[in-house]
Amino acid sequence: MNTPRTVLVIGGGAAGSAATILLRRAGIAVDLIEAKDDWNATAGSGITLQGNALRVLRELGVWEQVEKSGFGFGSVGITTPDGTVLHVAEDLRTGGDDLPATVGMQRPQLQSILIEAVRASGAGVRLGVRAESLDQSDGDGVTVRFSDRTEGRYDLVIAADGLGSATRAAIGITDKPEPTGMAIWRIAAPRPAGVTRTDLAYGGPAYIAGYCPTSATTLYAYVVEANRDRGSIPRASYADEMRSLAQHYGGHWPEITAHITDPAQVNYTWFDRLLVEGSWHRGRVVLVGDAAHCCPPTLAQGAALSMEDAWVLAQMLTAEDAEDAEDWDDALLQAYYERRIARVRPVVEASVQIGQWQLDGVRDADVPGLMGRTMTMLRELP
Ligand SMILES: Cc1cc2nc3c(=O)[nH]c(=O)nc-3n(C[C@H](O)[C@H](O)[C@H](O)COP(=O)(O)OP(=O)(O)OC[C@H]3O[C@@H](n4cnc5c(N)ncnc54)[C@H](O)[C@@H]3O)c2cc1C
Repeated sequence: MNTPRTVLVIGGGAAGSAATILLRRAGIAVDLIEAKDDWNATAGSGITLQGNALRVLRELGVWEQVEKSGFGFGSVGITTPDGTVLHVAEDLRTGGDDLPATVGMQRPQLQSILIEAVRASGAGVRLGVRAESLDQSDGDGVTVRFSDRTEGRYDLVIAADGLGSATRAAIGITDKPEPTGMAIWRIAAPRPAGVTRTDLAYGGPAYIAGYCPTSATTLYAYVVEANRDRGSIPRASYADEMRSLAQHYGGHWPEITAHITDPAQVNYTWFDRLLVEGSWHRGRVVLVGDAAHCCPPTLAQGAALSMEDAWVLAQMLTAEDAEDAEDWDDALLQAYYERRIARVRPVVEASVQIGQWQLDGVRDADVPGLMGRTMTMLRELP
């Protein structure tokens, strides 16, 4: 008789939530710990969900809620800084023809939908808790000591604790995110009626100025520039900083820029790159999402890839030939890495390359070609 299998998920972002929902559905006992007391705190302004992200969200059973709260569209406009539309390109439907190419969403909305699905799954959720130590000395499971002084024993630990993953470091993977040289100012704002898709302006005082509708009434807007010493920019000046770039853009930008007034609503983030190579596990602790890889959002693929990781790992852990916890071994976790790296590496490389061409001022780069090849690859099931 099979013994009940147990999993600890560390981190309740997109990847950890997706893994939890799918493993619970297969009858596996899952505990999820999230370091933040408020699970949906600082969830950010907006997110662009490409079809391949929507495909995973449908698998999680939350597509209807996503469709209702978000704003679906199927093209991207390329404009000059003054707002003149140069070209409108159809977005590829990477999730298949029965899903929109793209849905923009407010991040807190997406996170709420995932939190609700995790709660409904029956997983044991604890907030404000971290793993303090992971002991794998007996070789067939992990004993975890938690920051609330409790202890648990698991067949597998899934590290979904994001870019700065403490779990990654704890299992001896020394890779760290590296800045790509760009940074982004972001804000959520009311949606001007004419904004019905993402428009990107290249050039002007920033590398990119763009926006994405996130609901019938909202959008998120961003400007991308070379990164600066974060410590040298006073928090109180964030709105002034973003506005000083945004005010040079035309089209819908003046209407958006009028809302860049509250520094507390403006987010400033560097772009990072990370790709852990060789394997994403040590013993029975395995990485998913940003803990294993991260790319600048030039292709808007970070969360999509993170949720795909969770989907693929859950499929492999619950496949018929992995019936017992004993089968959750090195070979299975290495096969998970091999399956994912072949898809993740080209996306990370393309995302970084697109930004690097801009940093280097390369004017004749084949950006549409690289984007097209990468997105075509993503249409395949992960
Ligand atoms: C500027 C910017 C724009 C982006 N735009 C897009 C986009 O448009 N589309 C897209 O698909 N992707 C986008 N991304 C990428 C996307 O945000 C990430 O890839 C995605 O959030 C990764 O999900 P995750 O669950 O792996 O990590 P996270 O979302 O970082 O979640 C990790 C969770 O773990 C928790 N945690 C951390 N440490 C611990 C610990 N020790 N113990 C317990 N819990 C812990 C954190 O509190 C957090 O809740 C963007 C990224 C950036 C920086």
